[in-house]
Amino acid sequence: MAEKKKEYKWSYVIDPVKCMNCATCEVECRDDAIYIKDYEAYAINEENCTRCAKCYTACPVEAIQRVPVSKAS
Ligand code: SF4
Ligand code: SF4
Repeated sequence: MAEKKKEYKWSYVIDPVKCMNCATCEVECRDDAIYIKDYEAYAINEENCTRCAKCYTACPVEAIQRVPVSKAS
């Protein structure tokens, strides 16, 4: 059975300049979508992200942004 991929109109992305690596978003994410990219910065895996916005509302420095999908990839 072919897996149907859910399509979203937006993605969440982490601004590495604003991010202070506090790990709050990683703890909040229940879908294992937040990871540490190249051992340097937090990033969001669009494939796993269910757009629940938990990280977006939890980030203390507003480093997570909502962007249209076309611009996110
Ligand atoms: S929006 Fe939800 S699923 Fe996506 S990275 Fe943030 S907490 Fe995880
Ligand atoms: S919660 Fe915000 S500041 Fe903390 S690691 Fe995530 S993106 Fe960076």
